[in-house]
Amino acid sequence: MANHILKCRKCGAYSLSKECGNCGSACVLCQPSKYSPEDKYGKYRRQYIKEHSGMKKGGY
Ligand SMILES: [Zn+2]
Repeated sequence: MANHILKCRKCGAYSLSKECGNCGSACVLCQPSKYSPEDKYGKYRRQYIKEHSGMKKGGY
């Protein structure tokens, strides 16, 4: 299964195994660009700001 792509934390090389073939360091799971927590929570953040913007204007 080559569904998940791992990325070396040290040299940044992509690998399909847990060990980097370039430097031998541990590789971590590379999150797909689809998954963006910023966007996911950005919606709620904007909603939150919208709801609270009436209380403190121009603050922050
Ligand atoms: Zn590496």
